[in-house]
Amino acid sequence: MVMVIYGENFLYCAHHETTRKGSAMPSGHDTHFHTGHVVFVGAGPGDPDLLTLKALRALQGADVVIHDRLVSRDILDLAAPDACLLDAGKQGFGPGMAQDDINALIVRHAQGGAQVVRLKGGDPTVFGRLDEEIDAVTAAHLTWHVVPGITAASASVAAIGQSLTKRGRNASVRYLTGHDMKGFADHDWRTLARPGEVAAIYMGKKSARFIQGRLIMHGADRATPVTVIENATLPSQRVLSTTLDRLPADLSAAEPTGPALTFLGLAPRAAEAALAQSRQELA
Ligand code: SAH
Repeated sequence: MVMVIYGENFLYCAHHETTRKGSAMPSGHDTHFHTGHVVFVGAGPGDPDLLTLKALRALQGADVVIHDRLVSRDILDLAAPDACLLDAGKQGFGPGMAQDDINALIVRHAQGGAQVVRLKGGDPTVFGRLDEEIDAVTAAHLTWHVVPGITAASASVAAIGQSLTKRGRNASVRYLTGHDMKGFADHDWRTLARPGEVAAIYMGKKSARFIQGRLIMHGADRATPVTVIENATLPSQRVLSTTLDRLPADLSAAEPTGPALTFLGLAPRAAEAALAQSRQELA
């Protein structure tokens, strides 16, 4: 039986303590066998087929899976049948469990001897607050490792048939967040406004107007292509192809409700061809 204890601000799954062989608490020379371990696993963008084999194996071997809200049911279903699933309810920089409580949740279970999978959407190293959690795990003298996942930028660029970098167009690509802890995030707008720049903007829905304003203020062409991919790789995936000029209006008309990735400087491949054609006709 999986036992989940709900305390004030705290969840605890005691299941592994009763099912693991021997004492759950590390003791004496068999410390290694009974000591918990934390794997920070990337769940990818949503499609379960995009999990790595390592991610799948980690899920199958987990006593406890502490997951973000972005991780789909189909992926959680791949965890060991008797694994305890805990929703840490963190969605980007949105509301949810406080980071300190998530850290405590991870540490407490690993200290109890559990194999803990901390499952994060996409790649855990991209806008995933991974460092805070590693620091907490390290401070508690627990072992850990990271299993990378496919980040939303990689999934979304595949969905529109483009490349993140292209010879002669952009030799670098930037991953930006629309938000940081202080609100709308500040960036090097002057260099981002240059022709040919490509940026993958995470958490960019609410900040669309702010980003548009800053870029235009710094000289960006209003006709710069912008593409928003919602729910990339899921059956509900939607692609909005627009321009910097029209971004806020088109985005609010589309009313995306799922996670969305905004590309500055990229149009879907078919739209790009049509755009080039119309430019030729105008010339
Ligand atoms: N670690 C994650 C990003 C977490 S921040 C990763 O590597 O992808 C959350 C943001 O990621 C969302 O606001 C959205 O911008 C983006 N995102 C995550 N999953 C997505 C998906 N399936 N489609 C589009 N964007 C997604």
